[in-house]
Amino acid sequence: MSKCALYVTMPPSAVKTIRDLIFYEYAKLIARSAGFAGNYAFIMKKYTELREGRLAWSNLTREHRKEFERGKSCTYCGSPRNIGFDHIIPLSKGGTDTPDNLVACCASCNTSKGDRDLYDWWVNTLHRDEDTLPRIVAGKYLKLIYDIHKEHGTLDSTDLDGDSKLTVLDLGVVLDSQHESTPSAPKNKPATTPRKGDTKTRKRRGAGGIHTRRTHNTANPSGRGLINRIRRKLNI
Ligand SMILES: [Zn+2]
Repeated sequence: MSKCALYVTMPPSAVKTIRDLIFYEYAKLIARSAGFAGNYAFIMKKYTELREGRLAWSNLTREHRKEFERGKSCTYCGSPRNIGFDHIIPLSKGGTDTPDNLVACCASCNTSKGDRDLYDWWVNTLHRDEDTLPRIVAGKYLKLIYDIHKEHGTLDSTDLDGDSKLTVLDLGVVLDSQHESTPSAPKNKPATTPRKGDTKTRKRRGAGGIHTRRTHNTANPSGRGLINRIRRKLNI
């Protein structure tokens, strides 16, 4: 998969995992809020505090609420026309219909974003620098995606999109996962979910020998299960 890397920044070498990257991106948001955008020492201080649990990462909540209540303009482009809401994590990818996952958004941006991952859309479609993403939406996204990675057991992963680099484009890859990750389940316990979504191979013996017929079932219990598990996680 080729990714446009022009608008993403490689994090410093201390940032090695998805967990680190989420805290690092959040530290950059705090720096922007505090007027220290690009100040490496300030960012790494906040990063360390977040990582060690000495700083709660909900301290942008007040700012989020203010921006949200003000919001009769699009969070992404600023347009005051045709304003509705965008689900930051798309409903089709397990996002919820709750304020944590909503920002004011114009119809044009909503259509353009569709069910794309936020950073993927911002960087690869709009060709904007990752650090120009509005703070309110980036902050909400980072919190949501942290919980989803925690649920999937991927917080300690070092690269999820297979390009051998850890960037914000790795964060949304977890949303496309079609299989359930069950890190807490007993290892030898057989799967209890019916395998309806699998491709089945049936063998029939006939005059010509063994015939193989592949059948597909469009039911996808794994996807629904994932959404339900995320909803339970978020206490929805
Ligand atoms: Zn817009």
